Amino acid sequence: PEDFFKNVISHAKEYGFIFPSSEVYDGLSAVYDYGQNGAELKKNLREYWWKAMVQLHDNIVGIDAAILMHPTTWKASGHVDAFNDPLIDNKDSKKRFRADTLVEDFAEKINQKAQKEIDKARERFGDAFDEEQFVATNARVKEYKDKQKAILTRLAHSLENNLLADVKALIEELEIADPDTGSKNWTDVRQFNLMFGTKLGASAENAMDLYLRPETAQGIFVNFLNVQKSGRMKVPFGIAQTGKAFRNEIVARQFIFRMREFEQMEMQFFVRPGDEMKWYEYWKETRLKWHLSLGLGRENYRFHDHEKLAHYANAAADIEFKFPFGFKELEGIHSRTDFDLKAHEEYSGKKLQYFDPELNENYTPYVVETSVGLDRLFLAVFSNSLKEETLEDGSTRTVLALPAVVSPIKAAVLPLVKKDGLPELAKSIVEDLKWDFNVTYDEKDAVGRRYRRQDALGTPFCITVDHQSLEDKTVTIRHRDSMKQDRVSVSSLRSLILEEVGMHRW
Ligand code: ATP
Repeated sequence: PEDFFKNVISHAKEYGFIFPSSEVYDGLSAVYDYGQNGAELKKNLREYWWKAMVQLHDNIVGIDAAILMHPTTWKASGHVDAFNDPLIDNKDSKKRFRADTLVEDFAEKINQKAQKEIDKARERFGDAFDEEQFVATNARVKEYKDKQKAILTRLAHSLENNLLADVKALIEELEIADPDTGSKNWTDVRQFNLMFGTKLGASAENAMDLYLRPETAQGIFVNFLNVQKSGRMKVPFGIAQTGKAFRNEIVARQFIFRMREFEQMEMQFFVRPGDEMKWYEYWKETRLKWHLSLGLGRENYRFHDHEKLAHYANAAADIEFKFPFGFKELEGIHSRTDFDLKAHEEYSGKKLQYFDPELNENYTPYVVETSVGLDRLFLAVFSNSLKEETLEDGSTRTVLALPAVVSPIKAAVLPLVKKDGLPELAKSIVEDLKWDFNVTYDEKDAVGRRYRRQDALGTPFCITVDHQSLEDKTVTIRHRDSMKQDRVSVSSLRSLILEEVGMHRW
């Protein structure tokens, strides 16, 4: 898996998807640039989300709030006080870790021991295997599972109550070592605020301290009444937004999984108080269905219901995805109560209430939010699509089997040879199709190599122009995944491709 993940990163660079930021200066840690194909794939994923959330829901509208916000926003939201990571340093290696991650990784190792036993048993019992029963009755597995749970429960309790000394005690009791050096010589645990500060204004005396937003949600909360009034929105309704967020993450590794500058796609859904659990369940299911519509496989997703809740939530779950380094959070669904609107009322002194004409009363709506990281979604889709295939003749090919709807390039038009008028015909096909979707033209190298290059870029269709095309205006269309080729008329290409690369109903 480690090698596979390295392949993902190098493939992303080699084919113009993702580059390290400011690479000529040796890069900037946990910051990345999207290249010519990455920008297209990212844009397509964003559009796919926007269509599903805004276009397909009569009661959801989209906005685009500024990254810079009034600094009191972050006092009200709790980010000034509570947006902290517990850090611990190893005195020998001088390396810094997130204390909670150290403990969680330790607990996960215990879980993996249990998982090994479960996998072995599944192999033995085949179809008749009942995992739940096995876990409940196998003493060793139960012991592992209980231990894992006890550790996580204690960690959650310590963090919730800000008992940093207890987090350190836990690390010492479990004898957790620096994974690189094995040293168990730890400092105390400290809190570190994740927000990036900046200044507004030129002169030192008048400058105002600001933060780069650590989440997009607050831009929606402070605009709640603007949107509700100007759009005459009726509860329940949602406001959606995509945009950059910034966090000074301490342990920023795993490529674009955890970045310091990243993009979120969030939707805040405003509901009547008391209705929030119904909508929470609705959005959990609806968002999972959306992910499944990308076709990456049901087995790669699972829900993780939170035991440890953030200060603003009364229920929270993650949709986790099986990344190359294991199941990790891809999207969060949170029932945020009226915490945010109430807090902004308190700090601003302005009412942020809704008059419900059916109930004939004013109230502060409750909020259910869905929040997915665009870059994490990119990593999920990209890594899941990258495949090394062995073909019938024993040769191998690398294929990026992206969902066609998000592929950066939808079709490549390839003249079989560089003469006899084939390039001219191929170029005229490009000219015609490019009004509807991204098309590329390639005449370099043998056609087999050009196919391989498009496979690696994730292009779902290759259109090959040959001598017969000149006579009867037909071409071959090659399908990326099956590598099957059909002979079709030039005039049918547009609708044929559009049908495949459009958004499919689910
Ligand atoms: P994590 O526990 O992984 O730090 P989080 O619970 O802090 O994530 P939220 O604040 O709920 O994350 O943010 C919602 C979504 O934004 C996450 O599900 C994730 O997809 C994305 N996200 C959060 N932090 C980052 C980051 N540093 N880099 C990339 N994506 C991120």
